[in-house]
Amino acid sequence: MRLKAIKLAGFKSFVDPTYIPFPSNLSCIVGPNGCGKSNTIDAVRWVMGESSAKNLRGESMTDVIFNGSNARKPVGQCTVELIFDNTDGKLRGEYASFTEISIQRKVTRDAQNTYYLNGTKCRRKDITDIFLGTGLGPRSYAIIEQGMISRLIESKPEELRIFIEEAAGISKYKERRRDTENR
Ligand code: ATP
Ligand code: MG
Repeated sequence: MRLKAIKLAGFKSFVDPTYIPFPSNLSCIVGPNGCGKSNTIDAVRWVMGESSAKNLRGESMTDVIFNGSNARKPVGQCTVELIFDNTDGKLRGEYASFTEISIQRKVTRDAQNTYYLNGTKCRRKDITDIFLGTGLGPRSYAIIEQGMISRLIESKPEELRIFIEEAAGISKYKERRRDTENR
């Protein structure tokens, strides 16, 4: 499974619809300070269901919406879509037969969030579920950002355990058990 492209509109500094393709297994985003490199990573984490504004470097969850600049007025909503290549069938279950998987999240100023899976409206949980145990997800080890290594070193045993369980592929079973117990 590989991230093929990111589509953004109204997200942070990406006010106009922007398409960022990742044509190979190794891509590098380079650019001057403030050009939006970290914003693209925030976009990836956000669409996968991140629910902490702090983790997205904001104060409220609607801070991800373009809030205006000298030349442009703020906008009312933002959307981010991730397109994954699943030709290796890494995403199993009901999605195994899809060679391409698209996940999308939209938020409006009144904090209404909508999620889509291959164009169909779904719950946040449907998105987080398909990435459980793959190493991807809003707080997975697939995204190692500035300061995270020291946070890991300094984290409490319980916090560290979450990362180890995800890496070992057992978090999805724990999640399913929790689900069953809550029914
Ligand atoms: P550096 O090299 O310094 O890490 P960067 O390329 O990672 O820079 P980002 O942090 O991605 O830069 O982008 C910062 C820019 O995004 C700032 O100019 C900031 O004003 C802008 N920005 C962040 N949130 C919003 C928003 N909601 N609306 C408009 N612009 C925003
Ligand atoms: Mg940055």
